[in-house]
Amino acid sequence: MRKISLLIIAAICLQVFCLPLQQSLAQGSSDPVSQDILDSDVYFRSAVQRPRLRNYSTQIEALLRRMTVEEKVGQMTQLEIGQITSGGDSNINIDAAKLEKAIVQYNVGSILNVNGHALPVDKWHEIIGAIQNAAQRSRLKIPVIYGIDSIHGANYVRGATLFPQEIGMGASWNPRLMQRAAEITAMETRAAAIPWSFSPVLDLGRQPLWPRFWETFGEDPYLAKVMGVAFVRGLEGKNVADDRSVASSLKHYVGYSFPLSGRDRTSAWIPENHLREYFLPSFEAAIKSGARTVMVNSAEINGVPGHTNKFLLTDVLKGEMKFDGFIVSDWEDIKKLVTQWKVAPDEKEATRMAVMAGIDMSMVPNSYSFSDNLIALVKERKVPMTRIDDAVRRILRVKYELGLFENPMPNPRVKSNFNKPEYVEASLQAARETMTLLKNDGNVLPLAKNKKVLVTGPTSDSLIALNNGWTWVWQGSEPSLYPTNKMTIQQAIKAKIGEGRFEFRQGTRITRPPGSPANTTPTMFDQEVDVRAAVEEAKDSDVVVLCLGEGSYTETPGNLTDLTLPEVQLRFAEQIIATGKPVILVLVEGRPRLINRIADRVQAILLAYNPSDEGGRAVADVIFGDYNPNGKLPFTYPRATNNYLTYDHKLFEVEETSFGNVATGPQFSFGTGLSYTTYQYSDLNVSPKSAAMTGNVNVSVKVTNSGTRAGKETIILYLRDEAATLVPAGKRVKRFAKIHLEPGQTKTVSFSLGREDFSYIGMNNRPIVEPGDFTVMVGGLSDKFTLR
Ligand code: BGC
Repeated sequence: MRKISLLIIAAICLQVFCLPLQQSLAQGSSDPVSQDILDSDVYFRSAVQRPRLRNYSTQIEALLRRMTVEEKVGQMTQLEIGQITSGGDSNINIDAAKLEKAIVQYNVGSILNVNGHALPVDKWHEIIGAIQNAAQRSRLKIPVIYGIDSIHGANYVRGATLFPQEIGMGASWNPRLMQRAAEITAMETRAAAIPWSFSPVLDLGRQPLWPRFWETFGEDPYLAKVMGVAFVRGLEGKNVADDRSVASSLKHYVGYSFPLSGRDRTSAWIPENHLREYFLPSFEAAIKSGARTVMVNSAEINGVPGHTNKFLLTDVLKGEMKFDGFIVSDWEDIKKLVTQWKVAPDEKEATRMAVMAGIDMSMVPNSYSFSDNLIALVKERKVPMTRIDDAVRRILRVKYELGLFENPMPNPRVKSNFNKPEYVEASLQAARETMTLLKNDGNVLPLAKNKKVLVTGPTSDSLIALNNGWTWVWQGSEPSLYPTNKMTIQQAIKAKIGEGRFEFRQGTRITRPPGSPANTTPTMFDQEVDVRAAVEEAKDSDVVVLCLGEGSYTETPGNLTDLTLPEVQLRFAEQIIATGKPVILVLVEGRPRLINRIADRVQAILLAYNPSDEGGRAVADVIFGDYNPNGKLPFTYPRATNNYLTYDHKLFEVEETSFGNVATGPQFSFGTGLSYTTYQYSDLNVSPKSAAMTGNVNVSVKVTNSGTRAGKETIILYLRDEAATLVPAGKRVKRFAKIHLEPGQTKTVSFSLGREDFSYIGMNNRPIVEPGDFTVMVGGLSDKFTLR
């Protein structure tokens, strides 16, 4: 008996002392996968548990009883910062009269974002201090919740550390790295006295034309679910009231990323079983992990705008998923129910529809129409007080949980969490782990440092391209705001190999269309600069690093009509290729721009996505072998304009053979990613071979580093249902693990699959498991099991 209690005590000590130590070591280190096996399922289970917090219902109910209709509706109103300030950019200042009107007269509960560009920490403290001061002058002194788009770091706080955009983080297959990036994002956002971030994006990137493709973790629901949970855990921490944490906002619920046209904020058709199979799981998991707010899809699916979809907002999100935080609309989307979607004759009716569908807070954002309309609707009894109380309760709960009632004023102490050297290290590590080597003919990479290198192309000298949108300004397009101490690709390569063997020519550039005024929203336009000089220089070099891709964009300004890389870039590439010199193609882009005209004629292709400020260094590290690449494509890279298939498509093999020998396959498959070492997979073991539908199936595989360099490998486990009532996917990702292997080292990775993994969403929109054969595929090996 004594022995058993001792054992129990020892186990508890291990849990209490050693595990947090291990965790904090992992979190503090810039290389979170140094020793162990990072198993997606183990990570997911640890991250998905919602932290227990104080229950504030007594305070909330007491406050609610004292509130007038006007005060309640005020809490449900969110205005943009221009409604309480004058001037923009660096000349922004609180406008006392506007502030009084918003906070004291209209009791506005939330303010968002920047007017123009990012602001320094001190300026944020001044602005938020003034807002909370005004709130203290209001009758009930309810603090304001300030929200901001911290998309890849605290990108609206000058001098913050920025991280690779989500698409690259997806390619890292490393949720601990994602968590660490989000922790730093949270600290730097809170350091500016802002407690709420509009991230992560949990939409799936399954439509490559879509201009926000790069804001997603890619096309796979399981990867998005694991990485999304990591993002939320990093932002919200164990206690969201802590001055290192912020509330998250999952967006854009749901189906926003899959427009038929590929254009932003346009219609999608997604049957309910597909919504549940593909688009809802990332949201559901993040809600379970404690996410406090959700932002809504600005577009419509199946004819119902996101903002009037009572079924999805109230029945599914608040009902089935038990979401108890609040739902915020996206930008001006109640007004757009009238102007764009035409489901309401006027804004008042649109307001009624949206609030009754389940919207708790309206990002109005630049008028008082929402408040005025909703007050009238309540007084006319067209919106019941119970619905208003439900919304306000949700908003107040988040404010209490964030500690805003206890400490509404910005605390100067939090500034010390801003801008630490270890954040830059974490960003560099993240950038390195995103790098995805897609092609390396004859092991042309890594390059020896004594080669004569020409670096050229439109993305070779651009921090804007490395960062993309949501960087200092909405479109990321303002060069003067970028830090001067960060290196572009050409600068980083020059720093690595020295001036003697290095040449740089711009070649072509991405700019605004000729004649467009400087203050218009930029659209991308490619232009030749010194193509002839670059080609001449190429002839004189041993190797050319050709950097192509995209400039910065997001939302509607980033709409495209053709996924093919622009003609100016392709023509330039062809001239460089014609010199006969080996070409290393580096792609800096937020979506897979088609390269079939040149892909077979370059020797190596490195996909950098948008790796942010340390991306130049990361690209140079990989090209010259100071870092062994390990990113794997989180989406399918299409070959042709009319061939956008995801890896989990149905019956592709049949299609290929029945259409003869046409190259219908993708340019690069999902999961592609080369290394400078080689990995051998062996001893795939699936057991039992026959399992009950409620049982588990264990899968293990040995992975050996059979090359000469240390490296990291992501092991991806796919499962195929060999026969199902609804046509099954060719395969689906069910697990992954990231490991580090020294040369010659072998590790055995084990996974356990269960009922949820065997199931799919049936015609009745519920998960079903059917008996029959399943195939497990890992690293080129496969085996079967049968469910009975
Ligand atoms: C975007 C959101 C963003 C919001 C606030 C909208 O236009 O769709 O993703 O959070 O603006 O900036």
